[in-house]
Amino acid sequence: MSRIIGIDLGTTNSLVAYVDDTTGLPRIIPDERGRALLPSIVSFTPAGVLVGDDARRQLVRRPHSTVYSVKRLMGRSYEDVKDELRYLPFSVKPAEGIAKIQIEGREVTPPEISAVVLRALKERAEKHFGERLEKAVVTVPAYFNDSQRQATRDAGRIAGLDVVRIVNEPTAASLAYGLHRLYEGRIAVYDLGGGTFDVSILHVKDGVFEVLATNGDTHLGGDDFDRVIMLWLLEDIQARHHADLARTCVNLAEDPEVMQELRLAAEAAKVRLSSVERTTLTLPFADFTYHREITRADIERLIASLVEKTLGPCRQALKDAGLTPSALDAVVLVGGSTRVPLVRRRVEELYGKTPKSQLDPDLVVALGAAVQAQILAGGITDMLLLDVTPLSLGIETLGGIVSVLIPRNTTIPTSAREMFTTSVDGQTIVDLHVVQGERELAKDCRSLARFELSGIDPMPAGMPKIEVTFLIDANGILVVNAREQRSGKAASVEVRPTYGLVEADVERMIEDSFTYAEADVETRLLIETRNEAETVLTHVERAMRQGRELVSPEERAQIDAAVRALSEVRDTDDRERIHDCTIALNRATEHLAELMMDAALRAAVQSKRADEIMESS
Ligand code: AMP
Repeated sequence: MSRIIGIDLGTTNSLVAYVDDTTGLPRIIPDERGRALLPSIVSFTPAGVLVGDDARRQLVRRPHSTVYSVKRLMGRSYEDVKDELRYLPFSVKPAEGIAKIQIEGREVTPPEISAVVLRALKERAEKHFGERLEKAVVTVPAYFNDSQRQATRDAGRIAGLDVVRIVNEPTAASLAYGLHRLYEGRIAVYDLGGGTFDVSILHVKDGVFEVLATNGDTHLGGDDFDRVIMLWLLEDIQARHHADLARTCVNLAEDPEVMQELRLAAEAAKVRLSSVERTTLTLPFADFTYHREITRADIERLIASLVEKTLGPCRQALKDAGLTPSALDAVVLVGGSTRVPLVRRRVEELYGKTPKSQLDPDLVVALGAAVQAQILAGGITDMLLLDVTPLSLGIETLGGIVSVLIPRNTTIPTSAREMFTTSVDGQTIVDLHVVQGERELAKDCRSLARFELSGIDPMPAGMPKIEVTFLIDANGILVVNAREQRSGKAASVEVRPTYGLVEADVERMIEDSFTYAEADVETRLLIETRNEAETVLTHVERAMRQGRELVSPEERAQIDAAVRALSEVRDTDDRERIHDCTIALNRATEHLAELMMDAALRAAVQSKRADEIMESS
């Protein structure tokens, strides 16, 4: 039995898991430092391509060449994503219909970025098992359309992985819960991650997992929460430090490093406020320090409409499944963003049930992917998964109207047939346009592909009878076949995906795929030590600009000397020297840091007093 791994390729984090043969239970494979989550971030640096935590450390230093949240761009056209691009510090341009990322003069596609993440997970698993692995089950949001699924499968191929099955994330989560026999009956799985939202209604009984309906939004998640918080902070900083900014002519919104720091600070505050009611945020800028308290209520006010946006798909899925909330036996939460208390409250209010999350919402999808992998490998025989296609599949007919062949929420795999003929004598080619979506007009649906049927025997118009079969396979991906019935000849079908890579692209990408700088532990340690040095230097330079006057001339000279020493060694390969100089600089600035903290606290207390005086007057 060849081993198949389960991969959760997330917007924010990715994981790899397998089912332990002895216990029969799914397990996450951690990296050599015991970390389960691999941040889905890829950074292109002079030292090589970094992935995961190493890449995350480059977010602020190399905003233009560090790519995150690429899942939001997978299988999408430039038009689809152009509105949110202004918040991304890296450059995205339209190219042959799809959105491509520009990194230092070269174009990189979203599947290639995802492939770097997948390869890191593949290698992590190979190290764990001490053998080569080639097959994986990869999860995607249930609401991913055909192009997004194809892009995910292409990413696998570029990474050297045969994606033997694409599984919907909420379905995978239910498999993990099902394996633990935690729930039976009718279950709603509410899955809110970093970039996508899905809801699925399942019927689970005696090992059969039948998806009744699914719905969602592939552009809604924790990233959007971060964005509204970040924009709010930006406005607040601009209002409070108007004078400082005017004096220094700084436009924060146009500084990608500042925006990246703001985004990270917004996310960190959001995460803290899931467990505490209030938190303080301190952000040092070149000429001032921004300091303010944020409460959970502030965040809830900001994200309320986004949370509300998840409820429409929940109601629709329930309706499509023909159920009312009271008919549900359980509601399960999946995805990091379901830790937000407001999300939990709104879900509870909607379904009238306290949602459950016994299995860690960060891990559960990967665990479920491992279960599906084990089913496919033949290691589990008493579980069956019946998933559905999330969106209707149709063909554009006269007048641009869509004729639906396979309605949404049809159990997959499934097929539909349609007969076509020619309209001109001797016609040997027929063009077809396939679309996916719920709207009446083709222009309002997603254009999936154009098919050309060629090789039809020349006959009078209307004579050929061409049967075209559309099959949605178990991955939710469209496969097309065509046959001319009079001659019995198979017409050849050429598929031109509207927003995807063609075979030749994928082949080329496999050849020149990026190898990431994981080669040996020593290289990684060196990079990390250099990163640490860079971070400390940036902070000290900033602190010295702000607080130079707080310390004595002797201390200042000592700090300057330590900065010089570290600057001289930071780009060398001498890891120990870089490390020692970093420690020395940290020590030299301890007193300055204390003095600056005192000054910030005093300023905060004074402004609070001023507020109190204002309020009481
Ligand atoms: P996932 O895609 O499931 O890994 O979810 C990632 C998203 O969950 C990111 O937007 C995180 O900021 C968010 N997240 C993780 N932990 C928390 C938390 N404790 N509170 C709020 N959001 C969180």
